[in-house]
Amino acid sequence: DGSAPNTPNPSSSKNAMPPGMVMGPDGKPCKICTAFRHWKPGAAAEGHDRSRSHGGHTSTSAMMAALASGTAGTTTMARPDEPPPNCPPDVEQLGRATWTFLHTTAAYYPERPTPTQRANMLSLIRALPLLYPCSHCADDLGEDMAAHPPDVSGRVGLSRWLCERHNVVNQKLGKEEFNCAKTDERWKDGPSD
Ligand code: FAD
Repeated sequence: DGSAPNTPNPSSSKNAMPPGMVMGPDGKPCKICTAFRHWKPGAAAEGHDRSRSHGGHTSTSAMMAALASGTAGTTTMARPDEPPPNCPPDVEQLGRATWTFLHTTAAYYPERPTPTQRANMLSLIRALPLLYPCSHCADDLGEDMAAHPPDVSGRVGLSRWLCERHNVVNQKLGKEEFNCAKTDERWKDGPSD
């Protein structure tokens, strides 16, 4: 019914989920919706092996083991913030890669796109809330896009629209707002020295 509890876990809950761990729409811990640093070794004992359904890819248990090995079994030593090399991405790596793709694509979008180019860009953008693997990210983006439809009229408008959508996520995550006048500098031209 669309009310699946696929939002970040704000604190300890009745499922004893560590803060920051996210449930997917299937009611299981969602690996791709969760930052790697929130997968805590202690959570491995709480039935998360159920998410061993990723056909040959690194399982939750393996990710936990990799994480735990970085801590040598203590809670005081530093843990890596990122998944080890060759592990599937977490929500942050996926996000950075996706924003890089989207902002760069917008930066190189034509100033005056043809109707076909506009239609293709619209398809690409509209696919995100349907296909983006982090389900709560996708749902929130879909809601935001319903209130702020994509501007595919040209490079400048698209870059700004995307910057504003990214800022909505930044705000949700408590990150600094990006100055949308600087999208070309960040994603196309580079700093002017
Ligand atoms: P990122 O936010 O990934 O940004 C990468 C770089 O883009 C920055 O270093 C900066 O140079 C530049 N930048 C920053 N803001 C802007 C902007 N407004 N315009 C142009 N350039 C900018 N994570 C969650 O935990 N929960 C979510 O609900 C969630 N929703 C997401 C929805 C989408 C569609 C995407 C693509 C990602 C989402 N993410 C979400 C991931 C999140 O946005 C970040 O990608 C992730 O937290 C890593 O952040 P970061 O600080 O490395 O930089």
